[in-house]
Amino acid sequence: MKCTFCGYSDTKITNSRPLDESSVVRRRRECPQCAKRFTTYERIEEMPLMVSKTDNQREPFNRDKLRDGVALACRKRPIDRSVIEKTVDDIEHELQEYVFEVPSRIIGEKVLKKLLELDPIAYIRFASVYYQYADIDTFLNELKRIKEIKEK
Ligand SMILES: [Zn+2]
Repeated sequence: MKCTFCGYSDTKITNSRPLDESSVVRRRRECPQCAKRFTTYERIEEMPLMVSKTDNQREPFNRDKLRDGVALACRKRPIDRSVIEKTVDDIEHELQEYVFEVPSRIIGEKVLKKLLELDPIAYIRFASVYYQYADIDTFLNELKRIKEIKEK
């Protein structure tokens, strides 16, 4: 941060504190060249929610990726684009309780829950990718389970 008086580039921070609950930090700075003091208000980069995967890799949460997954499962089903957006919005909203990190499994299960309410075919499509059914029996059992839920 440059000194606002002489332009010297290596000013020292003498005090730093966040403003309330916002992502703005108030900093007192002092210039070692001209000895003047000034205050800056700096926005800290918004910290992205990290998604932890089963292989212990982590990646920033990506809304587009989530939407693509949901949209793919809903392809050619009688589901309006706005419903897909709403579903993604809802999931993203629910993820707010995870401040720093969320396991990818949680996201997958939230998608499955929404799709189950929305459309059984979309659910089965997503579930078949998500669970990667080891064999046809597991898959058929899942179909049976969905049928029972739907008939209730
Ligand atoms: Zn200065």
